[in-house]
Amino acid sequence: MQTLEQLIARARAYRADKYPQQQPHYQRLVSEGQSPKILMIACSDSRVDPTIIFGAEPGEIFLVRNVASLVPPFQPDRTCHGTSAALEFGVTSLGVEHIIVLGHGFCGGVAALLRGADKDQAGSDFIGPWLSSAAAVRDRLLAQSPDLPPQEAERQLEYATVRQSVENLRSFPWIAERVEKGALALHGWHFDISKGALLDVGKSGDPELIAG
Ligand SMILES: [Zn+2]
Repeated sequence: MQTLEQLIARARAYRADKYPQQQPHYQRLVSEGQSPKILMIACSDSRVDPTIIFGAEPGEIFLVRNVASLVPPFQPDRTCHGTSAALEFGVTSLGVEHIIVLGHGFCGGVAALLRGADKDQAGSDFIGPWLSSAAAVRDRLLAQSPDLPPQEAERQLEYATVRQSVENLRSFPWIAERVEKGALALHGWHFDISKGALLDVGKSGDPELIAG
């Protein structure tokens, strides 16, 4: 799909061919509202689409996508926090039971973080400050493993930022409270776009293969 005309043609084909089959499902979602059990934070990268990877139907995943699948720390300072607002709604209103942070291989956002884009004041209006929430993760990794080959450093930083995002989730009081009660579980996963493999990278120790 390279042009707007193609995009519109697909929307028309979807309306004509697929929507009629899904209409009863959509009608139920309209009358009953949404009640997804899963909230996922994924990257905006066009190559990593959770709906496709997990075969999700409408209403199943409350999905947040941002640059590098990052969760910033809890920071209620009355400024605009899109990811935190989605977390608040998903957790306190929808009552999701799982939050999954989904990192991915060959993440341009993580590569930029590794290159120090957060320190480049003139480089961007928003990307640098956004990535800076994970700067300490990068600094720790480079201090501990200064000799990693570039691609391995990127991969390790992809895993480490997912783990940090899971940790940051715990800084939101209404998340910590539900995790404590056993009503909510937090997960950190990584999708390798070159192999289709899904790893659990949210725990300490080596990544564990979930699918692949
Ligand atoms: Zn990415």
